[in-house]
Amino acid sequence: MKDIIIVGAGLAGSVHAILMAKKGYNVKVFERRPDLRNVELKGGRSINLALSTRGLKALEPAGVKEEIESICIPMYGRKMHDIKGNLTFQSYGKEDEAINSVSRGDLNKRLLLNATEYKNVSFFFNHKCEDIDLKTNTAHFIDEHNNRVSHTADYIFGTDGAFSAVRLRMMKTDRFDFSQTYLGHGYKEILLPANEDGTHKLEKNALHIWPRGQYMLIALPNFDGSYTCTLFFPYEGEPSFNSLQTPEAVNDFFKSTFPDFYELMPDLADEYFKNPTASLVTVKCNPWNHGNKTLIMGDAAHAIVPFYGQGMNASFEDCSVFYEMLEANDDDMEKTIVEFAAKRKPDGDAIAQLALDNYIEMRDLVADESFLLRKKIENKIYEKHPEKWMPLYSQVTFSHIPYSVAYETGQKQKRIMDKIMSQPDIKEKWDSQEVEQQILNALDH
Ligand SMILES: Cc1cc2nc3c(=O)[nH]c(=O)nc-3n(C[C@H](O)[C@H](O)[C@H](O)COP(=O)(O)OP(=O)(O)OC[C@H]3O[C@@H](n4cnc5c(N)ncnc54)[C@H](O)[C@@H]3O)c2cc1C
Repeated sequence: MKDIIIVGAGLAGSVHAILMAKKGYNVKVFERRPDLRNVELKGGRSINLALSTRGLKALEPAGVKEEIESICIPMYGRKMHDIKGNLTFQSYGKEDEAINSVSRGDLNKRLLLNATEYKNVSFFFNHKCEDIDLKTNTAHFIDEHNNRVSHTADYIFGTDGAFSAVRLRMMKTDRFDFSQTYLGHGYKEILLPANEDGTHKLEKNALHIWPRGQYMLIALPNFDGSYTCTLFFPYEGEPSFNSLQTPEAVNDFFKSTFPDFYELMPDLADEYFKNPTASLVTVKCNPWNHGNKTLIMGDAAHAIVPFYGQGMNASFEDCSVFYEMLEANDDDMEKTIVEFAAKRKPDGDAIAQLALDNYIEMRDLVADESFLLRKKIENKIYEKHPEKWMPLYSQVTFSHIPYSVAYETGQKQKRIMDKIMSQPDIKEKWDSQEVEQQILNALDH
């Protein structure tokens, strides 16, 4: 059987390793960090992610779906906190539809342990990829002793994240397109601890949002009763990371802007200054393959901002789409590498744009009356005519509709709803047969 090198044992790399091992390839996985499998993850900081339908689907052929579900906390909707501390709830989808809060460390560790069970997978931790030779399909690494080591394989997969070394080499080839765009906003994580008895301080089965127009705070629950909260905030201006320089400034800002959160959060300023401020980047490139032997997947191919909770889901979906295509191509790896890169690229572009658009929705529109009415009308049409109208959020989060198709459908729905909402008496007649018919007619055109 042929040899595969996977560079990067993060989320996509671990799942891809399992799926390729299942196919019988000799898989060598190289990761620059130490071995996560032996690390005790209890206590300390916890970073969590929202895992949804697309991600879960990829975990199924990898045989880990049930195990991962057992470490997830379902979140059935958004719980919005206004400036006075009033709460409102918006379901994400139908009654039983939820996105799932999962610890990144625990998820990655379990995926690695599952991959370890395959005899044809070997791991090389503390191996940082420095470069690859695209002609000979050789990857060059620096190991933990600072030695240079090289490995050659039939195929190389780069799942080494947003600042991929594999992609860096591909960027030096002719006609390779690349763009990297940073938001003017960054983020900072803040851990809201559990109550003394280990219970959650906020409702557990929801994603909490404090939308404040130009910025927002969100919180996702952890199993130990804590919440990982993230402040998405401008770098510059007033207020901004730059303007909050002292503990007093931080306390004053949180007290006046997120008062109910401030009441719950001990040692806020310590936590605020202890944790780094990190940037948010969108990376696009084309093509994702080099010939029929090298391919980048996950963030290496399409790093996106986190506002749709889809970066990991898209990366996992890369793995399942690749696996399905390989099966459909009777295990013709070379054909699959080329086809996958062409097929999946428009989906990567679509989710990148959707994620950017969703920042405005999350930080601003979720608290807007007309936006809420729009959602109410859409949900009514979805309930009555599910075959004709699925809201964009549901298409992205609870379906396997390709992102590019969801994006186009979403654009059409937006045009229809803009027109519906522009009617001056829409507040009064939103629930009428007339409005329903207007939407159905517009869909037929
Ligand atoms: C604040 C924030 C919140 C997010 N929330 C969500 C969410 O709720 N839901 C969601 O779906 N997504 C979310 N994401 C996105 C998600 O984290 C990424 O899309 C996902 O981690 C991509 O997986 P990956 O395997 O491609 O890359 P990574 O998980 O980054 O893994 C890359 C791996 O490659 C290794 N590596 C890097 N360079 C080298 C090298 N030179 N040599 C060897 N190894 C190397 C790294 O150490 C790492 O282990 C969020 C992202 C951020 C920043």
